[in-house]
Amino acid sequence: MNFKNFETQAIRTQNEHSQYNEHSTALHLTSSFVFDDAEQMRALFADEQEGNIYSRYSNPNTTELIDKICLLEGAEAGWATATGMAAVFTSLAALLKQGDHVLACRSIFGSTHTVLTKLLPKWGITHSYVDANDTQNWKNAVTPNTKILFIETPTNPGIDILDLEWLGNFAQQHQLLLLVDNCFATPYLQQPIKYGAHLVIHSATKYIDGQGRVLGGLIAGKKELITDIKAFARHSGPALSPFNAWILSKSLETLAVRMDRHSENALKLAQWLEQHPEVEWVKYPFLPSHPQYQIAKKQMKAGGGMVSFNVKGGLEKGRQFLNQLQMISMSANLGDTRSIATHPASTTHSKLTEQERLETGILPGLIRVSVGLEHINDIIADIEQALR
Ligand SMILES: *Cc1c(COP(=O)(O)O)cnc(C)c1O
Repeated sequence: MNFKNFETQAIRTQNEHSQYNEHSTALHLTSSFVFDDAEQMRALFADEQEGNIYSRYSNPNTTELIDKICLLEGAEAGWATATGMAAVFTSLAALLKQGDHVLACRSIFGSTHTVLTKLLPKWGITHSYVDANDTQNWKNAVTPNTKILFIETPTNPGIDILDLEWLGNFAQQHQLLLLVDNCFATPYLQQPIKYGAHLVIHSATKYIDGQGRVLGGLIAGKKELITDIKAFARHSGPALSPFNAWILSKSLETLAVRMDRHSENALKLAQWLEQHPEVEWVKYPFLPSHPQYQIAKKQMKAGGGMVSFNVKGGLEKGRQFLNQLQMISMSANLGDTRSIATHPASTTHSKLTEQERLETGILPGLIRVSVGLEHINDIIADIEQALR
């Protein structure tokens, strides 16, 4: 059956029952599969017939997860990887060759920054960063070798919003591939393919799992790009484990209700922080004070679970605040049921130079909160006592 609504697709996209008629999808922990005869084995290896050969290539649990993310993102095809970074690296490495150039928004996940600045240059692939919210900057930065636009929106940790409609048109005009890391929004809040993105990338570790249990990555988009990514990944080996695929597929069943509550809690926290005297500023996509509020309203269903704010008093105050938290976890993850606070300047973005951090908007007093699913009163109470 074909279901049109997101929630139903997320729940009812499921492998066929096994002989046991289980209601919840069976878990297929197997490294390889057996063939009926030599002819079937030949046909599968020759790609003349669909089927599973070896779990580095495909596995029923991974296939179910891929089918589901494709439906939810509105994508033609997809692929799954062991981590979000494997999804980022595999996409870039599979689609780029020596001499190619990547344009990326300046505010970007720390490890993606390292891939662009340290790893890809080893194979002669260059990049430039763009201060994303002035469209003239994108126009100025395109070179004849530019092949890919790589962006995040909302960005990590700055919570900037980039205009997907504008970028989709821009990519088309210049015949560039638009890759969007959709990790913060998830397909429930935003579907970049609708605006012309060619590939959407996820760290499934974050909201897709949503419970801080497993690592995973997903890629969804144009069929011909996924064909190249598949060819690269099957032989370079960043496969997602079937167990993690099983977890992640089940996690997607509750994505809609979780994202609604994450967004509701985050908006309430952002509004509360905005009137607090110890807080210099707050960034949340659905606060009218957000510089790209109108764009956020246009392309997102709700603001998501991430809030950034700057405490008065800089580095020292930022660290003191974290040390005073009693319930909210200090952890490197995000998108969990448990609220998490981080201090990007001394953790995720500590590998950047001071100058790079300032250019990316990572001020010394910046605190990033992944607002969880605890009662909002308890989240606010913990932050209130820590600010005091
Ligand atoms: C965490 C994260 C990644 C990397 O994902 P892993 O699963 O940790 O490898 C990539 N992009 C963004 C925006 C992230 O938050």
